[in-house]
Amino acid sequence: MYLRELTQSVSVLKGAGPSVCARLARLGIYTVADLLLRAPRGYEDRSRAVSFREAIRAGGTANTVGTVTDHDWFGYGRSRTLKILVDDGTATAALVCFHRAFLADRHPPGSRVRVTGSLALRFNELQSTSFEIEAAAEGQGPEAGVLPLYPLTDGLAQGTVRRLAARALAEYGRRTEDELPPGILESRGLPRKARALEDLHAPATPEAAERALRALAYEELFYLQIQVRRRAAARAERPADRPAGPPERRGLRDRLRERLPFRLTGDQERVAAEIARDMEGPRPMARLLQGDVGSGKTLVAFLAVLKAVEAGGQAALMAPTELLARQHAQTAARLLEPLGVRLAFLTGNLKDASRRPLLAALAAGDVDLVLGTHALFSEDVEYRRLTLAVVDEQHRFGVLQRLALSRKGGVPDLLMMTATPIPRTLALTVYGDLEVSTIRTMPPGRKPVVTHLARQGNETKVYEFVRRELAAGRQAYFVYPLIAESEASELKNAREMARRLSEEVYPGIPGGLIHSRLPDEEKRSTMEDFTRGDLRYLVATSVVEVGVDVAAATCMVVEHAERFGLAALHQLRGRVGRSDLQSYCFLVYSGNLSEEGKRRIRAMKETTDGFALAEEDLRIRGPGEIAGIAQSGSLRLSFADPVRDADLLELAREDAAGIVDRDPGLLQPEHRVIREVLERANPFPAETSGA
Ligand code: ADP
Ligand code: MG
Repeated sequence: MYLRELTQSVSVLKGAGPSVCARLARLGIYTVADLLLRAPRGYEDRSRAVSFREAIRAGGTANTVGTVTDHDWFGYGRSRTLKILVDDGTATAALVCFHRAFLADRHPPGSRVRVTGSLALRFNELQSTSFEIEAAAEGQGPEAGVLPLYPLTDGLAQGTVRRLAARALAEYGRRTEDELPPGILESRGLPRKARALEDLHAPATPEAAERALRALAYEELFYLQIQVRRRAAARAERPADRPAGPPERRGLRDRLRERLPFRLTGDQERVAAEIARDMEGPRPMARLLQGDVGSGKTLVAFLAVLKAVEAGGQAALMAPTELLARQHAQTAARLLEPLGVRLAFLTGNLKDASRRPLLAALAAGDVDLVLGTHALFSEDVEYRRLTLAVVDEQHRFGVLQRLALSRKGGVPDLLMMTATPIPRTLALTVYGDLEVSTIRTMPPGRKPVVTHLARQGNETKVYEFVRRELAAGRQAYFVYPLIAESEASELKNAREMARRLSEEVYPGIPGGLIHSRLPDEEKRSTMEDFTRGDLRYLVATSVVEVGVDVAAATCMVVEHAERFGLAALHQLRGRVGRSDLQSYCFLVYSGNLSEEGKRRIRAMKETTDGFALAEEDLRIRGPGEIAGIAQSGSLRLSFADPVRDADLLELAREDAAGIVDRDPGLLQPEHRVIREVLERANPFPAETSGA
C-alpha cells in the first residue's frame, strides 16, 4: 500500500502538470519517491536576518523584512522597467525588476515584504537585480529557515521544485515508515526516516540537513551492501566445476615459464599463486587483478588459462576493444600455441561462414582458449566446459557483460583485470564479492617515463625531440582528441595531423594513422606494420589507449591533453616505457585551461604512480565517475559518496553482513522504497545479479 503510494507518478502532486512532469523526468524524477529522495545540491541559509546595511558592509546576501516606499519606472516601451524601493529600517534598496513588471501589483507602496538578494551600490543607490521578494505578514520576521537548492533543468524554476517537494513532504514524506531493519537506527544513532526526509527538504538548521544527508547515505550504502553480500552468498553456494585433467596436459605452466626470455617478477608469481589457490578451491573464483599499465598482467592471465587447460577445462579471455583482443591473440599464438594450446579468435565482426565452424569447435571442446571481445558471451556462443573467464581492463565493462558471462555453462572461475586501480573503499562498495590481488612492482629495468608539458604553440620543439628519437631507431605515438575535422571544434584532429606530420614535419619517415572508424582490415595491418617497426610513428585517437604493447615506442605525444581524462592520460602514457629504454610523454595543452584540466595535467607531471593518479582522479571527479563505474549501472548513489563516507560504508558493510547471514527475514520487501529507486537504475534485481 505504502510503496504503491510512493511510487505513484509525481503528477499526483498539485502543480505538477504535464510540462512540469516532463521537465522533472529530464532530471530522472518520475515518482513521488524520486522527488522525496532527491538530494538538494545545496542549501541557502536564511535562518538568520541580514539587513540591507549589514549586507552591503559585509558583501553578503540580505535577508530582511521591510516596507515598500515607492515604485519607480525607467526606460521606454518594451524595455520599461520597474524599480521597487524597500526600506528595512537600516537603508532603502532599489529592487530592479527586469521583465517582472507584474511585481508592481503584488507589492504596492505601503505593503510589507520579505526580501532576499545580493546588493551593490550603483548610480548612487543600493541596488539589487537578483533577489526574491514575497509579501510578509504583519509581525513576520525575515527568518525563513534553510532553503534547499534543487538541481534544475531548462524551464524548471527553483520555486516550482521547492513547492512540489514541500507538497510531497506534507502528503507522503511525513508518513514515511522506516525502511532500515529495526535495531539499526538505534544502534547507529540515525534519525527516523520521516525525520530525515523532513530535514532533507525543510531543515531548521544546516546541521539538521547534514544529519539527514548522512542518514540517507547510510541507507543507500546499506542496501548496496545487502546486494553485494547476497551476490557473494549466491556465488558461494554454487560449487565450482573442477574437472580432473588428462595427464598429457600437466606441467603447461612450467613449460611456459621456461619459454619466456625473462623471469616473472615476485609480484607476478605471488598473484599467480593466489589465483591458482582460488582455482583449486571448492567455490568459483571471483578475483580482481589490479596492476599498473605495463606491470605484466597478461602473463599472469595466461598462467591462469594454462591452469584451467591443465585441468581439462576451457578458458575465455575477453578484451574491451578488437585491437587489444587481437594483440592478446597474437601473444597467445606466440606463447601458448607452441605448448599445444588450441586457440580461437572471436569478435562481433566475424562473418557467419567462419563463425559457424568456430562455434562448433567451442561447443565440441576442440578449442582450449578463445580470445575476443564481448562477442565471446553473446547468446549463441556455447562452451563445452568453460571453467575460466578472464576479463581484461575490467573497468570498461558494465554489469551487463559480467552477468551474461556468468550465465554461460556452469559457474566458471572469474578473473578480472584492471590497470585503473580502484581505491579499496570503492572496490569494497562495488565488488564486495571480489577478492583483490595487486601487482605493485614493475618488471626489472623499467625507467619511469619522463613527462614534459608543452603549451600549444611550442609543439614544434616536441616534434624536434621526437625526430631525434625516431632517428635513433625508436618509435612514437601522436594522439588527438578528434578523428577528423569538425565544424563545431577548432581542435586538431588525427586525420589532418597525419597528413601534416608526413608532409611537413617528417617527410620521408613512414607513419600510420589509426582510429575507430577505419575498416578492421586496415586497422589490423597498420598495427602490424607499427609493431614490426615498418611504420615509425602512429597518429591515433584514444583507440591506442588500452593494452597496445610495442616495446620500441619511446615517445607518446598527446595534443590537447586537457581534453583527456586522467585515467585516459595515464593509460596513454603507459603505451611507452615498456622496455629498458628511457621513454618520454609530452602533454601539449592549449592556453585556456579549465581548473580541472590544469589539475589533471599537473598530476600527470608530478607522478607516474597509477594508484596516486586514481586517488587524485577521485578527488577531481568524484567517485561516481571513476573507473567507468558510472557505466556499470549497478551503482547510482545520490546521497552516499563511498570515499567521503568511508566510515558509513564500513558500518553498512557490517550491518548488511549481519542481516544477510543471520536475519534475512528482517528485510521487509514491501517497504523497500529506496531499494525500488536504486534498482530502477539497475536493470538487474539484486537476487539475480552475479548468480
Ligand atoms: P599490462 O599489465 O599493462 O597488461 P603487459 O602484460 O602488457 O602489461 O606487459 C607489458 C610488457 O612487459 C609486455 O611486453 C610483457 O612481455 C613484459 N613483461 C611482462 N612480465 C615481465 C617480466 N617479468 N620481465 C620483463 N618483462 C615482462
Ligand atoms: Mg594489459
